[in-house]
Amino acid sequence: MTSNWSPSSWREKPIAQDVVYEDQQDLEKVLGKLRQLPPLVTPIEIDRLRAQLADVAQGKAFLLQGGDCAELFSACSQDPIEHKLSLILLMSLIILHGSRLPVIRIARIAGQYAKPRSKPTEVVDYPIEGQEGKTEKREVMSFRGDNVNGFEVTDRRADPERLLSAYFHSSATLNYIRALLSSGFADLNAPRQWSFSHVRSPSLQKAFEEVIDSLMDSLDFMRVAAGGAGAGKNEGSAARGGTETVDFYTSHEGLSLEYEEALTRAVQPSSAGNGFSSFARPARPSGASSSSRANSTVRGSSQRGEEKPEQQQKYYNLSSHFIWIGDRTRQLDGAHVEYFRGIQNPIGIKVGPTMKGDELVKMLDIVNPDNIPGKVTLISRYGADKVEKFLPAHIEAVKNSRHVVVWQCDAMHGNTKSSETDPSLKTRHFVDIISEISTSMKIHKELGTILGGVHLELTGEINEDGFSVTECIGGSMDLMDKDLSLNYLSHCDPRLNYEQSLDVAFLISDYLRA
Ligand code: PEP
Ligand code: MN
Repeated sequence: MTSNWSPSSWREKPIAQDVVYEDQQDLEKVLGKLRQLPPLVTPIEIDRLRAQLADVAQGKAFLLQGGDCAELFSACSQDPIEHKLSLILLMSLIILHGSRLPVIRIARIAGQYAKPRSKPTEVVDYPIEGQEGKTEKREVMSFRGDNVNGFEVTDRRADPERLLSAYFHSSATLNYIRALLSSGFADLNAPRQWSFSHVRSPSLQKAFEEVIDSLMDSLDFMRVAAGGAGAGKNEGSAARGGTETVDFYTSHEGLSLEYEEALTRAVQPSSAGNGFSSFARPARPSGASSSSRANSTVRGSSQRGEEKPEQQQKYYNLSSHFIWIGDRTRQLDGAHVEYFRGIQNPIGIKVGPTMKGDELVKMLDIVNPDNIPGKVTLISRYGADKVEKFLPAHIEAVKNSRHVVVWQCDAMHGNTKSSETDPSLKTRHFVDIISEISTSMKIHKELGTILGGVHLELTGEINEDGFSVTECIGGSMDLMDKDLSLNYLSHCDPRLNYEQSLDVAFLISDYLRA
């Protein structure tokens, strides 16, 4: 048991990017309901992912993580979910083909609703009531993600009911993902059904056909070699590479700690064997007060007579398999680090240019004191022009410590620029994204460490005419700055579109083959 930690101990610490709710009673009601609702994922799935990430840390598997910057409730619908799932599956096949490594797939999905912002408020054109078409300048709360407030300027009040909506949208999304996977959506024998048909580029189509043909040959070979049934399965600790279904994990930024706390559950040791049971119960008995940050010493588990002593239980965040701490909320003495240090889930930590080497090691000492393999993924995000300056020192700092981590390159967040034709649009250049990934790989190789994965903002979304989004510049489609407004749909950061994401996967595949 982590000392002096409880699911609510973060309430004693200063918190960055906090959301202030007007009505604490409303908030309490919602949190009470959330504590009572069933988990979205199980401890067994979380433990499996942690074991697979331990393989990534050793270079035995590759981690592909991607999805929207901000998921929207309105995107909780059949097509967007299928497109995102198929895109990540396709990318993982392409990377697997080049690297010959199992690919661990984690999507930013089923909970990626909360957003940190550089400014808490913004001045907007606000419609004047009763005066059709007229607006006035007004300062409103910035859009903080669908689980906090709405994107429409008239809907910016923080509404606690949205936390409950976030839970139900997450569960609907995850339910459909699970249903698709258990119905053969990821069956390697039918990859051509994965929404690839709309990709117009003949060269991308051809490259993909080659990957599929070659993988099918390998699968046929394995089937023959294994004498039929079960061929192609790899049940080791690395990714399960069965032909019928695949592991697919969810993730989000663990920003809204009220929500994360409510979905944190104490898990009893299993009576059978050494593992922990997959059964969890609320970390706090329902009805216990949790709202007051000053009165935060309630320990969920200590209140029921029949339970095992508290030292033996472990706490899991059962809203998602993997959560990460953002670059703006990673203060060593802050609320987010306090919360993250107590959970069993594998976690990510964003590492940007302002992180100091000794700070990074102190962070690892706090969140992973026992140096559990696969527990921490360091998500570096400097920008193509800064990676040479900052990554080597961070690698050296970790190398000189006792810690083993997964190194992952987020090639998006250090590479955001304004569009030249419309400065109100944010964009990213494909060349910068590729450059940050390839430079990171080179640096890791030189220093004897491993770049274990990538973290991308991407979408498989297409409009009614079958066109992909136009938010990032470049790639094999050769999107230009002037094209950005054609189909720019993001309410937050610009995402790689379907074709650009496949381009990235092919390049990663080539680098890993080399
Ligand atoms: C994000 O991943 O969407 C994000 C806000 O990243 P960062 O915390 O690295 O800025
Ligand atoms: Mn983002």
